[in-house]
Amino acid sequence: MALTEFASSRPLKPDELESGHGRYPRPSGLACSLVVRGQKAQNAAHTLGLETIGDLLEHLPRARREARTVAELAHGESATVVVEVRSISSRSVRRRGMRPIVEATVADGTGAMKVAFFNQPWLVTRYPPGTRLVLHGKYQARNRFSVQAHATTVEALSGAHAVAHYPATEGLSSTEIFALVKEHAGAMRDVCESLPTSMRVAERLPDRPAALSAVHFPASDGDSELGRRRLAFEELLLAQLALLERRLRREQSATAPVLDGARGLTRRWLSELLPFPLTGDQLRALEAIDADLVGPRPMQRLLMGEVGSGKTVVALYVLLRAVEHGYQGALMAPTETLAEQHFATVQSLMPGEMVPVGLLTGSTPARRADDLRGKLASGELALVVGTHALIEEAVEFSRLGVVVVDEQHRFGVRQRAALDAKGPGEERPHVLHMTATPIPRTLALAGYGDLDFTVLRELPRGRQPIQTFVCSTARERSRAYDRIREELRAGRQAFVVCPLVEESEALQARAATAEFERLRDGELSDFSVVLLHGQMPASAKQRAMGAFASGAADVLVATSVIEVGIDVPNATVMLVEDAERYGISQLHQLRGRIGRGRHSSLCLLFGSKDSPRLRALAAHGDGFKLAEIDLELRGEGELVGTRQHGQAVFRVAELPRDGELLERAAAQARAITVEDPGLELPEHALLRDALAQAYGSEAEAPIRA
Ligand code: ADP
Ligand code: MG
Repeated sequence: MALTEFASSRPLKPDELESGHGRYPRPSGLACSLVVRGQKAQNAAHTLGLETIGDLLEHLPRARREARTVAELAHGESATVVVEVRSISSRSVRRRGMRPIVEATVADGTGAMKVAFFNQPWLVTRYPPGTRLVLHGKYQARNRFSVQAHATTVEALSGAHAVAHYPATEGLSSTEIFALVKEHAGAMRDVCESLPTSMRVAERLPDRPAALSAVHFPASDGDSELGRRRLAFEELLLAQLALLERRLRREQSATAPVLDGARGLTRRWLSELLPFPLTGDQLRALEAIDADLVGPRPMQRLLMGEVGSGKTVVALYVLLRAVEHGYQGALMAPTETLAEQHFATVQSLMPGEMVPVGLLTGSTPARRADDLRGKLASGELALVVGTHALIEEAVEFSRLGVVVVDEQHRFGVRQRAALDAKGPGEERPHVLHMTATPIPRTLALAGYGDLDFTVLRELPRGRQPIQTFVCSTARERSRAYDRIREELRAGRQAFVVCPLVEESEALQARAATAEFERLRDGELSDFSVVLLHGQMPASAKQRAMGAFASGAADVLVATSVIEVGIDVPNATVMLVEDAERYGISQLHQLRGRIGRGRHSSLCLLFGSKDSPRLRALAAHGDGFKLAEIDLELRGEGELVGTRQHGQAVFRVAELPRDGELLERAAAQARAITVEDPGLELPEHALLRDALAQAYGSEAEAPIRA
């Protein structure tokens, strides 16, 4: 077949053929094995996953766009620098059980700064003076650089803005990889374009070969970023398509009971029995849920709201909707403590045992468990709260219509599927997922694009605001104890939270015990102080919690075990030692233990006033706002809760930085899914291939949900 001019029948002349006009991409070229000189280098290529020419071209340089010189670093800026180690040493830490900190002075041609590496004592020998390093991290006060990632490099030290740094390994350096990419640059023409042209035009994105070229060999910094965005867009688009495809498959494969009947029970409950009016957010959640339940497709909704935002009320509503249609409802929590709490809340929300509820956990006595299982199988028991015990094979439901899964990210896919399978006959129950971890919108979209979201932001009325202060000096410490004593004398109670010791629970327990003794015999000797830590026997824990809950004890000195599980509205002060060791979300969760009663509350965080995290907590009470700040400060991969939330980790895209790109990709994915759900149109054929390649032929779940 002769190649012709574009959109004409004129055959191309030999020189036009030479210059590349009309050359077809040959993807087979990309499948050729990558041959690297030297066995060691070949092994290294294998380690990096570089088996073919295609793999090599997809192996993208990192950190090019942010490279800075030491002199250019601005306070608070996240950046990548190429430096040389001047001196390095380790320093033991006062706290017992901590590994020594490795401190180094590093420099480039423009200046020097101090960096510290935690928990990696071996770096002293691995990075001797003279080693060239690429460091990624944040430049902080007092000429310190907090390192998030580090690697050796053979890049020349320079003030150049464009430092191509390829992920490398021993035996194959970044520079050698660059040389390989150059050598195989011709194969770039064999790269297929997977995005439909109309989309590329609408989104103003370069084609894939051009984008790859720009990332490897940019003519300017701007070029490489344009190319990166093009690749990131495709990556995000594929992830969204996979999520939507999964949602579609689930919707098509199962029906759920249609719950559109009259509301006798729920109406009476809301108007007569519930001791308070619902918040606006709760009402909106109920409306969204109602709209889900009237359809024949199983509800797949994620309810996000902080501890105390009133999720259990919403959960009970949807469970009661099942009951008033003659179906059963089940609420599953990841731990016994949480299940017991939900059970207590559910009971208190339905005065007079309006509908009997069972509690089934691993520690339910055998006879009682047998009885519960019998009643669930016969349908005699309509509501049950429990743990994993609910999904055991021995548990059968007569007509399970609604399931609520709390802290859903702590259950695996299989566990949730097991609960799904307990629906009546061929039908699936409606599912409401709940989480108390605020997830910023971009991450929620990336991780749970296949679920509908509802957020409870507004805290129930009557909640008292919490004032938060960062205390750094000895004077502030003594003032803090004054304030605690004032509150205690006024009849309130206080939490003292001990530093987090990640290395060992035993050490953490010991630190808490020491602090408990110090306060009991010193600052707080006029009051009743109790201790709570993870290593105490269960009975002692219960005694301590009981004493604090009943008001018999004034002060609870605890490790972070109180993060979940205590509701004492009379507690109005929380003091957190060494607060910088905790993450933002952890501190926010801890703080949620106060401010639950009629009195205003006080949270005292001990640590540096320079800490952006502590400053954020002092400034904001909204968990969603804090989650966004956390994401900004730490970046996607580091965000606590993100990993457990099954966040997809992207190769090219970076969140939250690419949040806007994600929104656009999500919109395009939705449009495609509506127009052509099976990606069967010819213009979507290559996209379908790319999707299959990225997520398997069945668009295997990219992330858990
Ligand atoms: P979550 O499950 O989100 O932690 P809960 O549903 O357990 O929150 O509610 C926390 C507390 O607030 C409970 O004691 C509950 O009775 C109360 N509560 C819930 N909704 C409201 C409301 N609209 N008005 C007043 N109190 C409420
Ligand atoms: Mg609750």
